[in-house]
Amino acid sequence: MRRKLVLGNWKMNGNRTTTQAWVGAARRLADELGAIEIGVLPSFVHLSDVIAVASGSALCVGAQDLATQQPGAFTGAVAGEMLVDAGATHVLIGHSERRHVFGESDATVAAKLQRALSVGLTPVLCVGETLAQREAGQTDAVILGQLRALLDLEGSAALERSVVAYEPVWAIGTGKTATPEQAQEVHALIRSAIAKRDAMLSGLVRILYGGSVKGSNAAQLFAHPDIDGGLIGGASLVPDDFAEICRAAALHAVEKT
Ligand code: PEP
Repeated sequence: MRRKLVLGNWKMNGNRTTTQAWVGAARRLADELGAIEIGVLPSFVHLSDVIAVASGSALCVGAQDLATQQPGAFTGAVAGEMLVDAGATHVLIGHSERRHVFGESDATVAAKLQRALSVGLTPVLCVGETLAQREAGQTDAVILGQLRALLDLEGSAALERSVVAYEPVWAIGTGKTATPEQAQEVHALIRSAIAKRDAMLSGLVRILYGGSVKGSNAAQLFAHPDIDGGLIGGASLVPDDFAEICRAAALHAVEKT
């Protein structure tokens, strides 16, 4: 059974005033659209304030990153344990900005995924190819390579608890969206790779699409069988736009097995 999931990635945006307005709107939306799951991912600084507003509602709150280390002498880092203690439930792993701006390797991404799982957070593993990789016909190989962080983990618990987000790098924050057919093709590839590991669980893992999702293209994307929701950047900072995307997901809230 897969419930559609829409997550708003606020990135390094907002202040205490704007985040209060954004989370208030998202909270009302999450309570209204019970057929889908909605979450927001504020900066570390705003996490506790946002969790306080979301408390008692259906809205989930997560973080955008976590450290590879356990708590200790790692100045400036934030441990998974701290996120759990603050009340976060989800964490992004390997967002393309972490990979390409901050130089996170596949090994670091894999370590963060394991850390998230070990503290009980729901990891949202982001995978995606660059434009050059797509044009060179390397999309499938890149996606399958990045997916290994999840598929190489032993046991079924990791698959049961993880979410995957397909985010073509060339579509993030650029206004260029993958066509629904392009996105579906990669989502189907991801699901079939998971099926080779565990056929039953492959039907349960949610695969989100991210990359310039807007109210105007969300419904077409979410109509595809392997697109289980969205990871939304820019549009999640405008409550009316985020609401339009969530309502589009709710239109396609049929639960799939
Ligand atoms: C993202 O940051 O994950 C993202 C998909 O951004 P945008 O929606 O702005 O492309």
